[in-house]
Amino acid sequence: MRTPFVAGNWKMYNSISEARKFVAELVPEIREINGVDKVLCPPFVDLLVVRSLIEGTDIGLGAQNMHWETKGAYTGEISPSMLAELCQYVILGHSERRAYFCETDEGVNRKIKSALAANLVPIVCVGETLAENEDGKTQEVVSRQMRAGLQGVEISTGKHLVIAYEPVWAIGTGKAATPEGANAVIADVIRRPLADLFGKKLSEEIRVLYGGSVKPQNAADFFSQPDIDGGLVGGACLKVDEFTQIIQAAAS
Ligand code: PEP
Repeated sequence: MRTPFVAGNWKMYNSISEARKFVAELVPEIREINGVDKVLCPPFVDLLVVRSLIEGTDIGLGAQNMHWETKGAYTGEISPSMLAELCQYVILGHSERRAYFCETDEGVNRKIKSALAANLVPIVCVGETLAENEDGKTQEVVSRQMRAGLQGVEISTGKHLVIAYEPVWAIGTGKAATPEGANAVIADVIRRPLADLFGKKLSEEIRVLYGGSVKPQNAADFFSQPDIDGGLVGGACLKVDEFTQIIQAAAS
């Protein structure tokens, strides 16, 4: 049995003062929801304040990106070891990073290896664009992202890796995939490569999330699918009531 997992990707929202107010309202709502791993992924500048506000709870903390090097002359970048002092998770290969910041499968692969070496759990995003979907290339694209992104990656337990299937056309559009459609992609081109790469036992421990317009209204339908273990949530994670309801759906 895999513990359900819900992460909120704040993207570039919430300044330090906004984060303080938001988390102070959110924590009392979600801290007693058991049976689900709950993770907040705020912008870098909010990590320290959010960390102090969730101290003593079982709420996890993650970043949204990082460089692959431990240190060096990389102006504007943040290293895995810097993050490891602040949080436990890091989102890697988000489609917005791939689209706007030229991230490649090879770069994502280097980052996954560096994150694991720093004891961070990568939340690795894969997913096809609208054009790729319409061209019938979903399986090919997601399969390539999985195999290239995870090439040479080693883990000792499936808890050290989380995959998020996020069809790009569903992100921030209000147009979610169907739960059955997302489950089919995950079963076919995510779980299968995971089993090839890590073996049956380890791969069955790895949580695979769905992301893309997850809302309180559709969360339970996604989370009841056999191969979907939770959600990576964007827009709805910025609203206390919506994020709470999504976490509750995963817990039940
Ligand atoms: C995301 O940014 O990872 C995401 C899934 O966004 P949204 O929930 O807003 O579609």
